[in-house]
Amino acid sequence: MNYSDNLNANKVFPVLSKTADQLGLECYVVGGWVRDLLLGRPSEDIDVVVVGSGIAMAEAFAKELGSGAYLAVFKNFGTAQVRKGKIDVEFVGARKESYHRESRKPIVENGTLADDQCRRDFSINAMAICLNASRYGELVDPFNGVEDLANGIIRTPLDPDITFSDDPLRMMRAVRFATRLGFTILSDTYEAIRRNVERMDIVSSERTAEELNKIMRTSNPSRGIMLMDGCGLLAKVLPEIDALKGVEKHNERAHKDIFTHTMRVLEGVANRSDDIWLRYAALFHDVGKPKTKQWDDNHGWIFYNHNFVGMKMLTPIFRRLHLPLGEELKLVKKLVELHMRPINLCDEGVTDSAIRRLLFDAGDDIDKLMILCESDITSANREKVERFANNYQLLRIKLKEIEEKDRIRNFQPPVDGLEIMQMFNIPPCAVVGELKNAVKDAILDGIIPNEHDAARNFVIANAAKYNLKPVDVSSDRIHIEK
Ligand code: ATP
Ligand code: MG
Repeated sequence: MNYSDNLNANKVFPVLSKTADQLGLECYVVGGWVRDLLLGRPSEDIDVVVVGSGIAMAEAFAKELGSGAYLAVFKNFGTAQVRKGKIDVEFVGARKESYHRESRKPIVENGTLADDQCRRDFSINAMAICLNASRYGELVDPFNGVEDLANGIIRTPLDPDITFSDDPLRMMRAVRFATRLGFTILSDTYEAIRRNVERMDIVSSERTAEELNKIMRTSNPSRGIMLMDGCGLLAKVLPEIDALKGVEKHNERAHKDIFTHTMRVLEGVANRSDDIWLRYAALFHDVGKPKTKQWDDNHGWIFYNHNFVGMKMLTPIFRRLHLPLGEELKLVKKLVELHMRPINLCDEGVTDSAIRRLLFDAGDDIDKLMILCESDITSANREKVERFANNYQLLRIKLKEIEEKDRIRNFQPPVDGLEIMQMFNIPPCAVVGELKNAVKDAILDGIIPNEHDAARNFVIANAAKYNLKPVDVSSDRIHIEK
């Protein structure tokens, strides 16, 4: 099979071909682009390997593309990148790699195409297509990547123990590709991961997190987490999730396996949302359960306050994994903390006030919270599942009605601290905060409408408790009464 037509469909390849021949360099497109072509998934990023200097090739290619081409040279790595509009090509000289035990950074020597293919992570990522005119479109596939693609198999080109020990990040990549493509990791390869899990110690947490994020972004992240579990990567990378596994019994009464449940919740959420942080909230929603598990003679297994305890565990986890500590962490914490609230509002007699409070606490993330909660029903009892689903539907209707009426979601108190200070001519102090809170509570409890004048009158009435009277603005006399 010759792939010249596929190459010609992208105007970059004829230019690369011409450039390589002018320099007299053997040149190939390699790795992900070739894999994705054979999978029928077009990809934009092109990796080029040159037998000789990748940097010289990149410079000549950038010149050939003319004005607007951007060249970046990474001398230390012997690589270069050329970008122009949508074009993004990375260049590397074919290399042989050898590794020190304590580092993922290889010692690099110039090599042949075959050497370069041996250092690639998986057979399906080691295929190359020649770009020189004499062999334009010829596939070089020394490890039967085509066959592995057809059979849906992830395997390392060489001895997997060496491949993984050299660069342990490849173990996370194996899981990532298996998850993304729906492939199986060959048992030899999978077993080698189990034997080399401890080698993850030499991988920076940034790189590990990058792979974890890619797994979480696939259409089936729960499969990725389960694959990590099956080979011991989960215990290494996410011990808190590993700790969810197992069932304890008391008087023959077992609680459900929290890990299995979590995987189903993650699957449910991933089917309904691409939001990676909502997916992380699903992964972590019950992370506090092992610490809070208790047997209670009246209620059976209970996990008192597990949502709160779980929320508190998130900052150290995010810090360790180098996941972002800003808005993203805030969202995951909020969802984990609130994930028990909606279920308690699925009651006929629930008050508008309780619903307003949920809207206030969840704010704009209420829809994400509802997706998490709706996915959190994983009982084997169909009748129960249906009942909860119906209840959640009713709750959604109520949330919508109350939001339309009271506009709580982006609630800003109609009277703020500054206005309160001016009203009574008082400096910032605890009383201001208390009055502000009283306004918030009164609105959420439906005592006053969410309107400025009503709130102002409410403040004046409440301030009497503190012996405060509003400043008489009609006279110049300013009096502070205590
Ligand atoms: P993606 O679609 O995620 O970009 P990709 O296969 O292009 O997939 P990259 O990380 O862009 O993955 O790497 C490009 C190529 O470089 C891979 O196809 C593989 O041949 C090689 N490669 C990348 N990382 C490694 C690694 N850690 N060990 C060995 N080879 C690697
Ligand atoms: Mg790529």
